[in-house]
Amino acid sequence: MSDVATPRRTKEIIERHGFSFKKSLGQNFLIDPNILNKIVSAAGLDKTKGALEIGPGIGALTEQLARQAKAVAAVEIDQRLIPILQEVLGAEEHVSVVHADVLDLDLHQLFRDKFAGTSAVSVVANLPYYVTTPILMKLLEQRLPLENIVVMIQKEVAERMAAKPGTKAYGSLSVAVQYYAVPELVCIVPHTVFIPQPNVDSAVIKLAMRDKPAVEVADEDFFFRTVQACFAQRRKTIHNNLSSWIGKSRREELTRVLQETGIDPVRRGETLSLQEYAALAAALEREGL
Ligand code: SAM
Repeated sequence: MSDVATPRRTKEIIERHGFSFKKSLGQNFLIDPNILNKIVSAAGLDKTKGALEIGPGIGALTEQLARQAKAVAAVEIDQRLIPILQEVLGAEEHVSVVHADVLDLDLHQLFRDKFAGTSAVSVVANLPYYVTTPILMKLLEQRLPLENIVVMIQKEVAERMAAKPGTKAYGSLSVAVQYYAVPELVCIVPHTVFIPQPNVDSAVIKLAMRDKPAVEVADEDFFFRTVQACFAQRRKTIHNNLSSWIGKSRREELTRVLQETGIDPVRRGETLSLQEYAALAAALEREGL
């Protein structure tokens, strides 16, 4: 039988099961085998490795992962897709379909259950756009034993994740992602390769997980709150953004902290590197701000 990721086979499966797309679940299914190949090869899978897929839909990507990986776990929220996935994927021992909302799932437990005995694990997915950032932040923050994450997401979000300091797209999301991983844009994807077609273009991004975070920080929570504060109002200087955060009465201490770190107070948040954010957070903490 032909692969799922063709317009004809996808339509056939959908019609036979009387399946109707739910926009609210971000259901846009891939029908282009070339794009699927690019996603799967970017992950660098082999028969010793595991793949976690989030949102398998009707299994277009899952069947490719099953051919390349030692173990595949596919987490799908929509109960109506479970029997379709079982039919498409057959009863392969190394492939598990899990009916769950990935945001509620204990991923460490899932890794213990499904990926014991694999040499490395990748997340490979065409993510539902309405929850891209919460899903990726959960994957990054939970310190899962991951080699990389290769995902199709909205193009504009991919560009923000990969953005360098001094560019318009650089923001708190860039800092958060780059703290844990090294991002690389794999390809831009037109909206014509999905059914139904989304309103926006997409991109495949690869996040290669770092062994340890990009910068050393004493208190991660405080580091990320400092970053958020500096981006609170993009057109304001970091001095103004930070003084709104810590209180105008402590402006003098703030000026001292910025002098101490050698960061010009009139700079904007979008110009600071991760190293500068780490130094700034450490100095603010030292001053008790
Ligand atoms: N992987 C398929 C493909 O490429 O054709 C489908 C991708 S579609 C963009 C996103 C999928 O994620 C849908 O099947 C949707 O039901 C599922 N989904 C949405 N929210 C989810 C969640 N919170 N947890 C798990 N799956 C979810």
